Amino acid sequence: MFLVIRCGGCSHMMTAPDYRHHMLCPVCGVTTALEGTRVYVTCRERAVAENIAEQLVRIFARRHGKDLTEEELHMLRQRFAAWERQSGWF
Ligand SMILES: [Zn+2]
Repeated sequence: MFLVIRCGGCSHMMTAPDYRHHMLCPVCGVTTALEGTRVYVTCRERAVAENIAEQLVRIFARRHGKDLTEEELHMLRQRFAAWERQSGWF
C-alpha cells in the first residue's frame, strides 16, 4: 500500500510505501515520520497515489496552502473509496 502524506517541512505532497518508517522529502530534504503524520489517502498502486498527491498540490495551491479539515479529508477518502470500487480493483 502507498500512503499520500504531506512533508512536515515544506508541505510538499508525497507518496510513501507503508512499510517505510520515514520519508525523505525530495524538495526540502526534511524527514517526515510516517507514524503520527496525517495520511490523506491509502492506495494499492503507487501511480494512483502519485496522481492523488498531484491533485492535492493543485487543491492546496488554490487554497493558499490551507490544509483540509477533518470533514474534507473524510469526503476525499469516501470519494476515493467509491472511485476505487468502480474501477474494479476489488
Ligand atoms: Zn519538504
